[in-house]
Amino acid sequence: MKILVLNCGSSSLKYQLIDSDTEGVLAKGLCERIGIDGSRLKHQPCGKEDVIFNEYMEDHTVAVKMVIDALLHPEYGVVKSASEINAVGHRVVHGGEYFSSSVIITEEVKEAIKKCCELAPLHNPANLIGIDACEKIMPGTPQVAVFDTAFHQTMPERAYLYALPYEYYEKYKIRRYGFHGTSHKYVSEEAAKMINRPLDQSKIVTCHLGNGGSICAVRNGLSIDTSMGFTPLEGLVMGTRAGNVDSAAITFLMEKENLTPSEMDNILNKKSGVLGISGVSSDFRDVEGARDEGNARAEIALDIFAYRVAKYIGEYAAAMNGLDAIVFTAGLGENSGSTRRLICNYLEFLGVHIDSYNNSLRGKAVEISAPDSRIRVLVIPTNEELVIARDTKELLDK
Ligand code: ADP
Repeated sequence: MKILVLNCGSSSLKYQLIDSDTEGVLAKGLCERIGIDGSRLKHQPCGKEDVIFNEYMEDHTVAVKMVIDALLHPEYGVVKSASEINAVGHRVVHGGEYFSSSVIITEEVKEAIKKCCELAPLHNPANLIGIDACEKIMPGTPQVAVFDTAFHQTMPERAYLYALPYEYYEKYKIRRYGFHGTSHKYVSEEAAKMINRPLDQSKIVTCHLGNGGSICAVRNGLSIDTSMGFTPLEGLVMGTRAGNVDSAAITFLMEKENLTPSEMDNILNKKSGVLGISGVSSDFRDVEGARDEGNARAEIALDIFAYRVAKYIGEYAAAMNGLDAIVFTAGLGENSGSTRRLICNYLEFLGVHIDSYNNSLRGKAVEISAPDSRIRVLVIPTNEELVIARDTKELLDK
């Protein structure tokens, strides 16, 4: 079965065409600047040269059409007819309390995704546009929605309720949802295999550390707690996001600086995090570079980042009453040995020891803990697209 996996952002569209039998990627690519001057499609067919199509894409419907054309292209294509694409799997960011697993898209499903737009105003509308575009261009092709929040729907009340008046949970569904669920699910399953433990008897903390980051306590294959909350702002210090801050500091700042809610939101989401503390950059590579050249604020920014990750790992070891393995994944987690080292230095009390050579390796799943480490530590490249393709196939097979 050939499955087109789509991840639609407000002005972008990432895709992969996956053969679900071999789980191989036949082609992948990215449409950028949709609806903006200079839009382009970068198409990477497997085993052929990459190609860039510089054509204006007015909206996501045009972008989906260009993706299909690229996949069918006589020279750069990988399929002969659109009917070879058996299904489309969509990444959808917010499924609220409606979805605890992936689903085949129907009108009711679209309605529920629409209702969650308020909870993810930057993402869900774009995801819906992608779904509508596929319905127009590939009518009759089954479509599946895979939600970032679904994996965390197993969190118990004690983990997801805020200590706000209960009426706000009832009225507005203000609670913790968690994100990056597809990634946490994938790497925790891979980790259980790597440490040779049945998933349903494992206690794993997964650290998805990219520009945005979150930590998840996965007990027996289920998310029981995670660091992101009502929105992807809660939790870790991130590239530009503040993570946890005393809410009284926010209202104090709004009064002092006369800020509107949306101005405050912008500061917390776009101007804070390691960028805000260091003043250098939101890209961890730049901040690490500055630290290595002696920039004190870059150094403290990275230390605060690592300290908070380590505190979550300790917290989740307590939440699970034990810990078998820690997993690092995503851009920073997969690539920055120095960040992993900084984090693990705080975990001496758990008996965590890192092997320097393995910690320097890149690009593949590897165990980085030393043989005497009480907790296994793993680096596992995440693969959200593969999970989306697997879920899509599984639903269609039913
Ligand atoms: P997102 O999907 O949230 O945008 P990614 O998972 O792509 O993020 O991760 C991006 C982050 O990973 C960036 O901050 C980048 O600096 C960091 N990163 C990627 N490669 C390295 C590296 N070799 N060393 C340090 N940081 C890295």
